[in-house]
Order: sequence, then structure tokens, then C-alpha cells
Amino acid sequence: MPLDLLALAAHRDDVEQTCGGTLLKMSERGYRTGILDLTQGEMGTRGTADDRAGEAAEAARILKVCWRHALDIPDGRVENNWENRLKVARVLREQRPRVLILPYWEGRHPDHYTASILGYEAAFLSGLAKLPLEGSAHRPFKIIYASLYRDMRPTFVVDITEQFETRLASLMAYKSQFTDQQAGSGIFPAQKEIRTRIEAMARYYGLLGGVTYAEPFVQKEVGLVDDLTLLPVQSL
Ligand SMILES: [Zn+2]
Repeated sequence: MPLDLLALAAHRDDVEQTCGGTLLKMSERGYRTGILDLTQGEMGTRGTADDRAGEAAEAARILKVCWRHALDIPDGRVENNWENRLKVARVLREQRPRVLILPYWEGRHPDHYTASILGYEAAFLSGLAKLPLEGSAHRPFKIIYASLYRDMRPTFVVDITEQFETRLASLMAYKSQFTDQQAGSGIFPAQKEIRTRIEAMARYYGLLGGVTYAEPFVQKEVGLVDDLTLLPVQSL
């Protein structure tokens, strides 16, 4: 059974932070959703890759995703090379998503923006019939970019008002990262502060869309409109 949507990100917990509410919403509508993490989190200040694997599985359960997998690309060293493009293309051929959600292609963390370009180029490769790779050629119909990590105006937002609390719970499933503890307390905000930040961001994007909470996305293509009277988001 092919996936309807696949969200790809560099690190376990990136998807929960940038588009977890959207994945949950799509799942609640009956779509098959999946998450591909490129790395396993072995460079994290807190916890081990094994801790994070268990936490990621719990977060996936909370977000009702059908499929989640982590590749073995080194954490902190996500490179857009041939070997990694093939690893991602293999997953795309197996899971055959119609919609691929990538991280935005600019950002502070090199793993994040590299994951974006790597995902895009793997999606292109995966459609080449003569690629020396098992499975038949497949390209996602639509690629969109989750832009929450980047301060920019999104092309559209998804209303996650109903999903907000559950999405927050999926993030808090990463107990090694988000519970209050001594290790790394200089760089990790306390749990209460995390909730405030996540809520402020979701509120901000919600405001742009005229709803309470939302997640932001960018698409490179223009929007196609059939009936002007059905356009959402009030102007005045
Ligand atoms: Zn990350």
C-alpha cells in the first residue's frame, strides 16, 4: 500500500516540530502517512540513538503515522551525495508517496537545508526508469516544504487547531530531549518554555490563516484556482 504523504527530515523530532500537526490531521482524514528520518541522533547532547529510536516510535504512534524509518546517514554530517540520494530514492520507490514534505531549503542547521536538497534530488532520481535500483520508478506528484524553522512568509498554512495538543504530546515523547534535566541545561529550554514557544509559533501562523493554530508551508509552484468564491482566508 503506497503512502499518501511522506515527511522527510534530518533529525528525529524535526517532523514533530515542523509538520506533526499536519501529518496527524491527514491521518485523521484517512490518509496513509509516513516519516523518514535521515539520521539516528547519535550526536545529540542528551540521550543515545537507541533512546531516540524508542522516543521516535512513541511519537509516531501519537501522530498516527503508518510507517517510520531512520536511515543510517551520520548525524551532523548529512551530505547530498550519490550514496545518500540512492538511500532516499530506495525509500521513495518502496513507499511511493503522492505528497513529499521536505524541510525548507535554507536555514541555520546545515543538516536541515542539505536534507531539503537531498530529498528533492532523490525524488528526481527515483523517477528515472533506468536507475540501477530495485523497484519501479516513482516520483511524488507534489513536493512541499515545511518552513517553520525558517523565518519567512509561507505560501500556505494548514489549520492544526484540533491537532495542536496531540502534536505537542508527540514532541514531549522525546523525553531525553525535552524533560527538564541538568545535562545541556544551558542550551535546552525548560519544558514550560518549550510549550510557550511552540504555542507562539503555531498562534502566529494561525493568525495568518485566520485560525487558532497552524503550520506553515512553501510550495514552489503557483496555486491553481477554479472558483474565486471559494478562496479561504478573509482579507478585511
Ligand atoms: Zn533538526
